[in-house]
Amino acid sequence: MQTKAFAAQTPQSPLAETVIERREPGPKDVLIDILYCGVCHSDLHTARGEWEGIRFPSVPGHEIVGRVTQIGGEVSKVAVGDIVGVGCMTDSCRVCASCHDGLEQYCEGPHGFQQTYSGWLDGYGENTLGGYSAAITVDEHFVLKVNHGEADLAGVAPLLCAGITTWSPLRHWNAGPGKKVGVVGIGGLGHMGIKLAHALGAHVVAFTTSESKRQDALDLGADEVVISKDPEAMAAHTRSFDLIVDTVAASHDLDAFITLLRRDGALVLVGAPEQPHPSPSVFPMLLGRRSLAGSAIGGIPETQEMLDFCAEKGITAQIEMIAMQDIEAAYARMLKSDVKYRFVIDMASLK
Ligand code: NAP
Ligand code: ZN
Ligand code: ZN
Repeated sequence: MQTKAFAAQTPQSPLAETVIERREPGPKDVLIDILYCGVCHSDLHTARGEWEGIRFPSVPGHEIVGRVTQIGGEVSKVAVGDIVGVGCMTDSCRVCASCHDGLEQYCEGPHGFQQTYSGWLDGYGENTLGGYSAAITVDEHFVLKVNHGEADLAGVAPLLCAGITTWSPLRHWNAGPGKKVGVVGIGGLGHMGIKLAHALGAHVVAFTTSESKRQDALDLGADEVVISKDPEAMAAHTRSFDLIVDTVAASHDLDAFITLLRRDGALVLVGAPEQPHPSPSVFPMLLGRRSLAGSAIGGIPETQEMLDFCAEKGITAQIEMIAMQDIEAAYARMLKSDVKYRFVIDMASLK
């Protein structure tokens, strides 16, 4: 069925209105009328073709909240009228060990997981098209239930990527009471990392390059804020962190953070810069048995767990609502780290 969307036709062309084809719901499919879609930095990396293998035309958007308008005959998870979410994945092999463990983002099948946009083909064309659109058809396995109130829904959209991408490492590396947790970069991911680590009971230190975000970081739940460009402020935290989650969208020096880890501490990279980071020095890692790790989004069960936790605790993203037509201006501000703290598209502007 024909659906309005915003697409970049090439890495050089600005996003503009277009019409895309969505599949009619099959037996296990859910058709969702999109209400809100968050704007992730990955959308920008993709629309500009910054990563390898991006498919065009590109319709970004993987922080989707909407209402179910139609379901296939075998769908049991949701009903017409339900408010639901869709994140970064819309399919996976379902049979490998990772899929079996509910960690579909690490699917070991021939294609890996199917990304919500720029994903592998599944019989419906050479590309998947994301949430900068009026509607989307998704297999029920990849549809999340949203229990927040209707007034909160725009702020729920960013939980589907920014929320789960920080939640998953915080949980895996046991952020909680008695743990000192750092969050590097206060953008979409980072501001959710602060909120979630705080709600999990950890002592939270926010690292930012933007002096202007100091008070906001405290308001978001950070116990301390460090301006990462200040070597003295950094040195005051040497050998003290159990976990640091690095959300920075640009290449930077990792040693500055590795040296802040206590023995057995971990620096976990979730930011995905276009250019690689300079290689970390070996000795700070040896002398302290420190780890450098990475983490990708999160599986479907843990995404539901995070959404339920946030609904219970009243957690949403801090957002700035935009019209679909304002997306290029939003990207320009994102490149200047000037987002407080997630743009969310009101999809009524497209319809
Ligand atoms: P964002 O809103 O643009 O935030 C990134 C933050 O990083 C900025 O606000 C800024 O924070 C800091 N920063 C930016 N440029 C910097 C630089 N040159 N040096 C130091 N700090 C800098 O982006 P986002 O949506 O949170 O996404 C962050 C990254 O995570 C992107 O690369 C995105 O593609 C990636 N990502 C990965 C996953 C995953 O599964 N691993 C999922 C989603 C997104 P301060 O102003 O506080 O310094
Ligand atoms: Zn994302
Ligand atoms: Zn799999």
